[in-house]
Amino acid sequence: MSELILKAESLSACYGRVEALSDVSLQVARGEIVTVVGANGAGKSTLLQSILGAVSPKAGKLTFAGQDITRWPIYRRIEEGLVLVPEGRRILVSMTIEENLLLGAHMRRDKIAVRREIGGIYDRFPNLAQRRNHNASCLSGGEQQMLALGRALLAKPQLLMMDEPSLGLSPLFVQRLFELIQAYNREGLSILLIEQNTANALRIAHRATVLELGRVALEGDAASVAGSTGLQEAYLGGT
Ligand code: ATP
Repeated sequence: MSELILKAESLSACYGRVEALSDVSLQVARGEIVTVVGANGAGKSTLLQSILGAVSPKAGKLTFAGQDITRWPIYRRIEEGLVLVPEGRRILVSMTIEENLLLGAHMRRDKIAVRREIGGIYDRFPNLAQRRNHNASCLSGGEQQMLALGRALLAKPQLLMMDEPSLGLSPLFVQRLFELIQAYNREGLSILLIEQNTANALRIAHRATVLELGRVALEGDAASVAGSTGLQEAYLGGT
């Protein structure tokens, strides 16, 4: 395997007495798409929030780009290039499309490069370019997902984490979204993707982890996970 961008070792996390993650390990190599799938409540979002630092794991170790980030605050992880596109997109609808994009770059000082990259995002997303000075409330759910992706890219991710990005999108936007994820990956971006849309996620991912009740039920290259009979059991919660 090529150099690791992310290594999570034996993460465990609780909400009060509820153990949401138990001894979960995961690796992402540079240039890979890794997907995490599993039934509702399996612990997928908790895993991403633990990697981002919004949830404090009670045990485990996180290494990002060769550094031990286990005790780093969120802002330092983001500055280092560990960036999340959150579930539900969290677009600020009372701000313009361009202001939303600029939020992604607020920690950057290289303003000329930021302007150039915003131009690149507009080239890729003409729907955003045409309405750059309109409030983001004018966008459809699919367009808001593109905006959330653009905003995250402006934070210069070394690893882009996406929490259920296809949720609530029309089939056309789902297809476009998965094409975009693949296109950015081909340009070198490493991606950790959490998805309910298991079939599509396994189709574009290199490797996959199946979570079941907070534990790793299955992992391996995406094609063999997709072909495994255990996937159905794990995805249905193992009942
Ligand atoms: P979903 O697809 O429904 O978001 P998930 O796989 O992302 O599910 P998590 O949201 O990580 O799963 O939840 C894992 C477990 O932790 C569940 O039992 C859930 O009820 C519990 N949980 C999640 N967030 C909280 C919270 N803030 N407080 C208490 N329990 C929580």
